[in-house]
Amino acid sequence: MNEMKYVSTRGGQDGLGFQDAVMTGLARDGGLLVPERIPDVREKLADWKDLSYPELAFEIMRLFATDVPEEDLRGLVTRAYSTFMHSEVAPVRKAGKVWVLELFHGPTLAFKDIALQFLGQLYSYILSKRGGRLNIVAATSGDTGSAAICGVRGQERVNIFVMHPHGRVSPLQERQMTSVTDANVFNLAVEGAFDDCQSIMKALFNDLAFKDEFSLGSVNSVNWARILAQIVYYFYSAFRVLEGTSGAEAVQFSVPTGNFGDILAGWYAKQMGLPVRRLLLATNENDILARFFHTGRYVRGQVVPTVNPSMDIQVASNFERWLYYRLAQNPAAVREKMAEFAATGAMGIDLRGASGASDEIMAGTSDTKRTLATIRKYWEKENVLLDPHTAAGVFVAEQYDDREDPTICLATAHPAKFPAAIEQATGKPNLARHSILDALEGAPTRCEIVPNDVNAVREFVRRNAGA
Ligand SMILES: *Cc1c(COP(=O)(O)O)cnc(C)c1O
Repeated sequence: MNEMKYVSTRGGQDGLGFQDAVMTGLARDGGLLVPERIPDVREKLADWKDLSYPELAFEIMRLFATDVPEEDLRGLVTRAYSTFMHSEVAPVRKAGKVWVLELFHGPTLAFKDIALQFLGQLYSYILSKRGGRLNIVAATSGDTGSAAICGVRGQERVNIFVMHPHGRVSPLQERQMTSVTDANVFNLAVEGAFDDCQSIMKALFNDLAFKDEFSLGSVNSVNWARILAQIVYYFYSAFRVLEGTSGAEAVQFSVPTGNFGDILAGWYAKQMGLPVRRLLLATNENDILARFFHTGRYVRGQVVPTVNPSMDIQVASNFERWLYYRLAQNPAAVREKMAEFAATGAMGIDLRGASGASDEIMAGTSDTKRTLATIRKYWEKENVLLDPHTAAGVFVAEQYDDREDPTICLATAHPAKFPAAIEQATGKPNLARHSILDALEGAPTRCEIVPNDVNAVREFVRRNAGA
């Protein structure tokens, strides 16, 4: 088997093995790490289509994680998905004209578990081989924090420091994080907004001396392992839906998008040879990506809070990976575009191109009113309760109903995580419940309030990082 190496989109790092790419997180030149080639798996599709979720995950991941011995990789995958509450891990079901891919059966009820249960296992494995410790520093607006904490809680060689904006995440999301009181878990409520948390995180990673001294690690979707784990469910669901739809030869996916990580995994699946006609990118009012795919202009706007907060992002970090391929894998061109965007808040590229790539991603927007109406409609007509992120994707899928191909809508969170929006949409309180969330009521919590200041957070990490 050919060894897979990783390179930075900005050209400053190359030749990294998979394990080094995972431990590095954000590339040291500020770019993102990508595999140096994308394997073509068209010849394997027939053999893969009846595999169980963990078996399929193993087959896909071994192409990218060539420096992990196969038996070890099999163990990591099996352990990661044994925590899921559904035997299929990621089941699909028909709802009206679309298929809903349920990605929320993991321990924290959001699709982030699919990647972070795996990444937690992977960190533990790599550290047990190499020795040493890892200090994960993360910023969250809600779902990433709890999924990441759940992936590494109790691990001996890992500490995790998760910053959330004080008083600005939902009470339920806050409790999901702060009720984990293992000694290696530190919740920091930063007196600022989510953007402040994210810029503190970036400042700590860009302090290379600090990053090296404390072995900082990343669980955000800048980490390649997260994208890799997410490629799997595109294959898994396409196999199920193609089998269940007579005459269908390809599928399309609709993806509620924030940081562009989830839909990017679908893009890789398509490049690998999965028959995907189109990827539909759904945004809420924070529509920088939808505007880009309509006009070719990438222009930063003001973030507005919405009913689907995990999509409230203006600058999508994984967009740089897509841009890298779009610019013919030319790091100098990526550096130029990213510098222009950093300096002016805007940049543009020609989307027409000769390759026909302009319609492989089509974008649409669902505002709060449409999202709530979609939740209500699917509840009343199909007896399916969609969370507000999923509903935005379903709304956009309905706008692109012009092809015969079956459409798979990614359901990224369990509706019980967003009870206020569900009540607003349906008029019914307590419709969306889950025993895992009910059990958090009154649980002891641990959280440190810190000022909105890089030095305060740096000192906190220094004091608590351990040897
Ligand atoms: C994180 C998240 C998203 C956005 O995913 P990206 O990979 O950031 O595009 C959508 N829905 C939910 C529920 C999420 O937690």
